Amino acid sequence: MTKSVQNHHLMWDGCDTVALAKKYGTPLYVFSVNEIVKECQNIKAAFTEKYPNTRIAYASKAFSTIAMLQLIEKEGLCLDVVSGGELYTAIAANFPAERIEFNGNNKSIEELTLALEYGVGRIIVDGLQEIDLLQKIAQEKNKQVKILFRITPEVKAATHDFISTGQKDSKFGIPLDEEILWPTIQKAIDAPNIHFLGFHFHVGSQLADNAAHLAAAKIALDLVLAVKERCHYEVQELNYGGGFGVKYLPSDLRQPYSYFLTPLMELTEAFCTAHQLTRPTIVIEPGRSIVAEAGISLHTIGAIKELPGIRKYASIDGGMTDNIRPGLYQAKYTGLLANKADLPNEEVVTISGKACESTDILTKDLALPKVQTGDIFATFSTGAYGYSMASNYNKLAIPAVVFVKDGQDALVVKRQSYEQMIQNECSALAFI
Ligand SMILES: *Cc1c(COP(=O)(O)O)cnc(C)c1O
Repeated sequence: MTKSVQNHHLMWDGCDTVALAKKYGTPLYVFSVNEIVKECQNIKAAFTEKYPNTRIAYASKAFSTIAMLQLIEKEGLCLDVVSGGELYTAIAANFPAERIEFNGNNKSIEELTLALEYGVGRIIVDGLQEIDLLQKIAQEKNKQVKILFRITPEVKAATHDFISTGQKDSKFGIPLDEEILWPTIQKAIDAPNIHFLGFHFHVGSQLADNAAHLAAAKIALDLVLAVKERCHYEVQELNYGGGFGVKYLPSDLRQPYSYFLTPLMELTEAFCTAHQLTRPTIVIEPGRSIVAEAGISLHTIGAIKELPGIRKYASIDGGMTDNIRPGLYQAKYTGLLANKADLPNEEVVTISGKACESTDILTKDLALPKVQTGDIFATFSTGAYGYSMASNYNKLAIPAVVFVKDGQDALVVKRQSYEQMIQNECSALAFI
């Protein structure tokens, strides 16, 4: 078990979280290596080990550090990057180029150039403009580049609007309109330095319902058939994106991977058999589900403020700067006092951050044992889109990250120092 309690202390993958907070300071991100590996194994068992000709690409934007990418590499997964910075991190982690795919709705010339020079396996093209740009760069570099088109499947995922991406009115993907889509496909087929492989979609995130994936897959498969009929061209690859939901609160439903993947693959196989198509390679891109529940964050409780008859606030030494999800899309979390992990609840407390924003509330009205200054608050399921969205707002430092495994701990990202925070700033005294 990743989570346990010893001497009233929360243990994470065998490590005492109170001791970790003392050793490394807070705010601190703590990731269970065993938990990440277990997720990788679960998804491989439900997908790559079950169906031939499939790949899993970890969407690194969920949590991208050298140590994480090394772990993903070791587990045999591929990698999805969405920026030059994420690609640079992958290169720093020595991630094999062929196993990297590059997504994004506005890749720059510099980013595409870096991708071609490193030799990334796939570029997921998001629009007509990008095809022209890519052909030009590939020609200059004398390279062949494999691409997929990200399409907007025009399905509405059952999730928060802010993390829904497949609807027609979206900045992501190529619309299915006849006069936009087909010239784009034909252009990719004809471009001498481009090898058009197929289509990509990503319908949204934190999904507990497979309907959007299935509807989008049907649209992608129809396109495969249409490309064969209209362009006499065989699509070789389809990417069905990520979006598999995780458990933040005990009341959240976390579906097993098979809930999404089994019907998706059945639909795909049945369609291909019915239309005498060779089944394309199927790729998925999970981010959140690989890493969310493996990560917790630790904060120290500071100021406590009681408003009689209204609410009790306990403030932590971080907040929206290390986890913006509550402020950004009303994400809900639960947690406990890591140093009083099995003590009975005595009061209801709202855990607030220290940033100068009223939305900087981590959890509202949480039942906890008596809260005191100096207690360590542990938030669960912060592994995805927490550290990776951290900011220096209010000039708070980006936290440190520790990996833990079977009672051992290793620092994988140092805490940012004040000095590092301002290292790129220059004096303007001669100018002002
Ligand atoms: C964010 C994203 C993913 C991963 O989504 P999760 O919900 O974290 O699984 C996959 N593919 C693309 C293109 C994305 O933008």
